[in-house]
Amino acid sequence: MSAFDQELTARLDGIREQGLLRELRRVDSAQGPRIEIGGRTLLNFSSNDYLGLANHPALKEAAIRAVEKFGAGAGASRLICGSLAPFHELEEALATFKGTEAALSFSTGYAAAVGTITALLGKDDIIIVDKLVHACIVDAAKLSGAKLRVFAHNDLNDLKDILKWADTRNRESTNKGNILIITESVFSMDGDRAPLEQLVALKEAYGAWLMLDEAHATGLYGVNRRGLAEECGVSDTVEIQMGTLGKALGASGGYICGSRALIDVLVNRARSFIFSTAPVPAAAAAASAAIDILQQAEGDSLRRNLWELLKTFSKINPALLWFPSAIQPLKIGDEAQAVSVASELRERGFFVPAIRYPTVARGSARLRITLTASHSEDQVIAIGNALSPVCEKLRQLSGLRDA
Ligand SMILES: *Cc1c(COP(=O)(O)O)cnc(C)c1O
Repeated sequence: MSAFDQELTARLDGIREQGLLRELRRVDSAQGPRIEIGGRTLLNFSSNDYLGLANHPALKEAAIRAVEKFGAGAGASRLICGSLAPFHELEEALATFKGTEAALSFSTGYAAAVGTITALLGKDDIIIVDKLVHACIVDAAKLSGAKLRVFAHNDLNDLKDILKWADTRNRESTNKGNILIITESVFSMDGDRAPLEQLVALKEAYGAWLMLDEAHATGLYGVNRRGLAEECGVSDTVEIQMGTLGKALGASGGYICGSRALIDVLVNRARSFIFSTAPVPAAAAAASAAIDILQQAEGDSLRRNLWELLKTFSKINPALLWFPSAIQPLKIGDEAQAVSVASELRERGFFVPAIRYPTVARGSARLRITLTASHSEDQVIAIGNALSPVCEKLRQLSGLRDA
């Protein structure tokens, strides 16, 4: 073995010893309530395809039509070889859907975060993030060179203290920087929500900007299913609305919605947009078809399905539901134990991921159960019942700890 591979093998051993080794599991079917893994069909409770659109005929057809007209690949970055029509149609649809002046699509949500944050902030600025924001936001904030501060999860007092500090620092400094607060509306691994109304009040009071990542809320909340900002009536005060096209929208890509000025700056300054080949046109066309469905009666009925299934699920395990979200975490703590529960469930025909460090903090491993509109009531009852003994055991353990 080469010295290089020896070193890497030692690193892998270290990861394995901590119960943190990850391996890819090949799936031989489309995403849906049932997936095929290793020759077995499992009930799938792992996907972020919350409305069941990833395998929807309208999205597939839109993708196929886009391939036939525009080909498989985009050829270059959109500023180099021209910008294909499906991206423009998508961005118009996104802006209308979200009720903003303009929108820009990126190859992924990750690229949207990295491109946007580094385009807007630099070393004189301050970025303040919730402790539980997604890795792409943390990476982007670090890359930007801005001063990064973290507030305790959903803790408005902590946020206020940091805003006071930032305000004082700005007053005392000659080059006054901008302050950007970033949070998620619904948190990816906890399924809880941010206190958006109070957060907006705070950021207004301190003249900070707000970037809101609606990755797990777009399509699910608000009268028009725009997201939690709509439900809370604060959309107009959020400077930067971010999301992904790969979760409830069933396709692939990321987006930023906001003012025309914001989008124009991003086209000129977002490096992940400028220096990267445009996504395949099929992805944009599929996402446009998803936005179309969301805005129609079908979108409403899919969402209602999901909340009905959630009710069924929470009746079986009442401790699990505290905010209506498609993400239901079952916290186990120990990494190896979480993996072993997930593997037991797999044996019994359920595919539920064990989420571990570095996705969540060490010692807070969990099962992350996601429900989608395309599950049947029977399937949800089945996973609810399969989890009951796990819940019971956890209750006993926490009772022992409390005593
Ligand atoms: C998934 C996710 C992203 C990244 O989006 P991709 O399109 O998957 O790159 C960003 N933020 C949050 C909160 C996410 O859960």
